Amino acid sequence: MKKQFAVIGLGGFGEAVAVELMRLGHEVLGVDSDPDKANHLADKLTQTVIANATDEDALAELDLHRFDAVLVAIGAHIEASILCTMMVKSQEAKEVWVKAITPTHHKIVEKLGADRVLHPEYEMGLRVAQSLAHPNMLDYIGLGDNYFVIEIRPGEVLEDRPLSDLRIDDFEVRLLAIKHGQSVSLSPDPEQRLRRNDHLVLVGEEQALRRFSASL
Ligand code: ATP
Ligand code: ATP
Repeated sequence: MKKQFAVIGLGGFGEAVAVELMRLGHEVLGVDSDPDKANHLADKLTQTVIANATDEDALAELDLHRFDAVLVAIGAHIEASILCTMMVKSQEAKEVWVKAITPTHHKIVEKLGADRVLHPEYEMGLRVAQSLAHPNMLDYIGLGDNYFVIEIRPGEVLEDRPLSDLRIDDFEVRLLAIKHGQSVSLSPDPEQRLRRNDHLVLVGEEQALRRFSASL
């Protein structure tokens, strides 16, 4: 289903989000006070507007309540981000996401009612650290309470061996799926043999997942 989004602040982060939403088939309004930023994306987004997002009248003209979600991606200008978030909330936008750059910024926009606060650099830093520390881990999702879903690439020594050889049950982790290229098989049969380039998708506590990965 086609959705409508507004992205306020078209820096590196806002641009990446806006362009990807278009690629996914949605409609995107991009707003930036810098004419170069707005013009640069004029052909790539449904609509771009040059406006100062801290100007109440300019913001009111955008009718932000008609969008499924509004992303405030003004990062470095903390004051502008806070003011803009406050006004977007008072326009009763359905869902408001905000990019924050410091813990204080995070706390303030949360208090103002942001539905989700993002820290792209910090979150990317965690991801990069995790990938550096576990080179066979391709992706992960934190579920909270120290539980993770991870995607790993087992070593080639396991090629052609049945899944039961991995003794997954001994590690208090659960195998959710095997990925092979674009195909995914859920709850795979224990007698199924691993093929070259198969990826395992597992869920469990961090320590258990670590012990299991180390056993491969
Ligand atoms: P990024 O980390 O996304 O690359 P950046 O560091 O390039 O961001 P920021 O200062 O975080 O830039 O601002 C993001 C965008 O928000 C910029 O394109 C900037 O022109 C725009 N912006 C800043 N203040 C306002 C404002 N008051 N109204 C509208 N847009 C603004
Ligand atoms: P960079 O210099 O890498 O561009 P930054 O340090 O200016 O980024 P962030 O990495 O976004 O900005 O975060 C600012 C501070 O907030 C960091 O010191 C980080 O430790 C802290 N921080 C960010 N997100 C969280 C979080 N979810 N929980 C606790 N602290 C956080």
